[in-house]
Amino acid sequence: MTSIKLDGQERLWVSTRSGLFVADTKRKPIRFEPFQVPFVRGLTKTIYRVVPRADGRIWVSGTGGLGLWDGRNWIVYGTKSGLRKESIVFFAERTDREVWVGYAGVEGVSRLQLRPDFSVAETEHFNQEGTLHSNDISFVERDRGGRIWIGTAAGVDIYDGRRWRYLGTENGLIWHDCALGAFLEDSNGDVLVGTENGFSMIKDTQQRLLDSPTTPKIIGLWRNGEPQKLASLRLSSGDLRIEFANMRLNGNANFRYRLAGPDAASGLWQPISQPALHLPQPGAGQYRLEVQAPQPDGSWMGKTAVLVFEITPRYWQSWWFAALVGVGLLATVVAVWWLRERRILEASRVLEQAVADRTHDIEAQKEQIATLLEQAQQSNQLKSEFLANMSHEIRTPMNGVLGMTALALATELSGEQRDYLDTAHQSAESLLQVLNDILDFSKIEAGRLDVECVGFSVRQVVEDAARPFRFALQQKQLGFEIEVAEAVPAMLGGDPGRVRQILTNLIGNGVKFTQRGLIRVGVDLVESGEAGALLAFRVKDSGIGIAAESLPIVFEQFRQADGSTTRKFGGTGLGLAISRKLAELMGGTLSATSEVGVGSEFICALRFANTWPTAARGNSEIPGDVAALRILVAEDNEVSQRLVERLLTKRGHRVTKASNGRQAVARFAEGGIELVFMDVQMPEMNGLDAVRAIRQAESSTGRHVPIVMLTANAMEGDRERCLECGADGYLTKPVSDFQLAQAVAQFGLTRVNSKPDAAPVK
Ligand code: ADP
Repeated sequence: MTSIKLDGQERLWVSTRSGLFVADTKRKPIRFEPFQVPFVRGLTKTIYRVVPRADGRIWVSGTGGLGLWDGRNWIVYGTKSGLRKESIVFFAERTDREVWVGYAGVEGVSRLQLRPDFSVAETEHFNQEGTLHSNDISFVERDRGGRIWIGTAAGVDIYDGRRWRYLGTENGLIWHDCALGAFLEDSNGDVLVGTENGFSMIKDTQQRLLDSPTTPKIIGLWRNGEPQKLASLRLSSGDLRIEFANMRLNGNANFRYRLAGPDAASGLWQPISQPALHLPQPGAGQYRLEVQAPQPDGSWMGKTAVLVFEITPRYWQSWWFAALVGVGLLATVVAVWWLRERRILEASRVLEQAVADRTHDIEAQKEQIATLLEQAQQSNQLKSEFLANMSHEIRTPMNGVLGMTALALATELSGEQRDYLDTAHQSAESLLQVLNDILDFSKIEAGRLDVECVGFSVRQVVEDAARPFRFALQQKQLGFEIEVAEAVPAMLGGDPGRVRQILTNLIGNGVKFTQRGLIRVGVDLVESGEAGALLAFRVKDSGIGIAAESLPIVFEQFRQADGSTTRKFGGTGLGLAISRKLAELMGGTLSATSEVGVGSEFICALRFANTWPTAARGNSEIPGDVAALRILVAEDNEVSQRLVERLLTKRGHRVTKASNGRQAVARFAEGGIELVFMDVQMPEMNGLDAVRAIRQAESSTGRHVPIVMLTANAMEGDRERCLECGADGYLTKPVSDFQLAQAVAQFGLTRVNSKPDAAPVK
């Protein structure tokens, strides 16, 4: 049996696990008749509850739904009416058109609002999610005040038609778990509620219910729209929505909350009129949300719903991520630094290598240059030595040839003999000229040619230059004119020897390259001022001329205008090159104009000084008779020795001969020598050492015998070497009669103890 009820007609209704039975209690003996309930299902046809209405209708619940019997028909309410299940255990009418239904199973309760004809107007569900404290229902009853009492496994939820109340252990219930169907309201209106652990009697019901506190409850948490389990609240950040409810005011939300956590640590209560709190992307950390609902008297003294949850940090917020990033950054910095360092090192290595290579190259080049320089110096030295040797070797025999022919010409000769000797003498002189040219040229090349400044007569120089050609001119029947302009000063300062050399060259060429006509030498004053005078020497001929294209090259060394001229006219091709160089040395120029077959004109412009140092030189006259002297002639070449001896004895001097330096020193030591001519290059002891020995010997006596060196080395430097060793003067071979006589006059006269001014003799 599941329930038993007496209706207004005193019929007793009994519901059982195998159907519904009814008995009329006015008829004795009481007999129960089964009452057909067509909608019950299953084998057992369980009827859970039967409740007669005041209007005679009968409510029956069981497997298959809730039925209302009006005496003729059943109206059945089930899932088609919006109920959750067909198997209905509990039900209670709050009003005659509002029925509360509880199911077999943990489903909460449903409320049916009925129209006057008992059709369903609205079905609404109440459960743990919103209103009830548990979905596990123990009873659904109505008290006489019209309240619906819903016993659950977590106390009693009471609805008075406006709001919900709760009855739990905190406000009077002895135990939270209500016993099945354990509800009884007595005649006083006191209510007895049975629990699994005894029963409670709720007196003065109205007051208690009013006082019972409202209870907010957190009913759900959604993250990015996904519901979360409220059990384990560790979640990663996202769009959070926390929903809560007032267990007494379904749908009517009025709350306040406070949130403690890293994002909201204010701890102040915030009012909120929504049953939900929205937290967009809360930061990582622990949160504590407290929610309160207002009490019936308006205060906030009731229960507080608490939700504690933790937002786990995103990986980039975690310490290990920060550490990782730190390590990464450090690694990057180190890597960048390392790369940079490596690149710098590499660059500096490359640079160092380049510098080393370059240095090596430069060193090699320097070495090469040094070697080349040494070679050049050596070859220059060799050239100088060669020239010196050659000139010595040539000059010494030339000395003999010239001297001996001169001596021979001074003797009685037949006409034919004289002619032969004359020719020989002239040839020797030409040879000497060539030799002098070559020497001059190498001196100019080496920059060793000095230009002197003495006073000289311009006319005299021109005449001197022309003199050697008198014979040739006569032979060729050429006319010759000298025209010195009147404006040209009679005397000027310069190097007459070099001027004569240039003019000799030009006149010589003119004579050489002219077959008929005239050679004319003119001198003009181009310019005159304080600095001096600029003269133009013009040597003009009526000879073969020079082709225009050859004109520039005739001034180059060893070049001739026409290769064939060499064979026809002879020559070295040095004359013009030397002349131009000499002109330039004297601050002048040498140029030419020419027409083939008509003739050539060479113009030499030279600058001379108005003043010059007074000449310390003897004049060019052969001095008159000098007292006979005892002269030592030291010379290894027999011909030269004999020549000098003859030239000196011719003038009445007595000669003592020596063939080398040692002999010379010995002869000098024998005493009586008043003048010495000493050759430089001699075997056994050279002239320089011999002079030193003589001077050494003299130092004890205080005497000073003049010594004149004879040198074939016409190169610069010979003079210095001669004078350094203690000689008084020097002569360049081949020595002429005139030069010897002049030297004897100069040094023989000053043979007294005073040392004379050292000077070469010309
Ligand atoms: P060289 O010893 O050959 O005469 P130069 O330097 O004096 O050497 O002259 C060079 C060349 O210039 C000559 O070989 C000749 O061809 C030409 N030359 C010089 N002077 C004259 C001139 N007066 N008339 C024609 N040709 C000349």
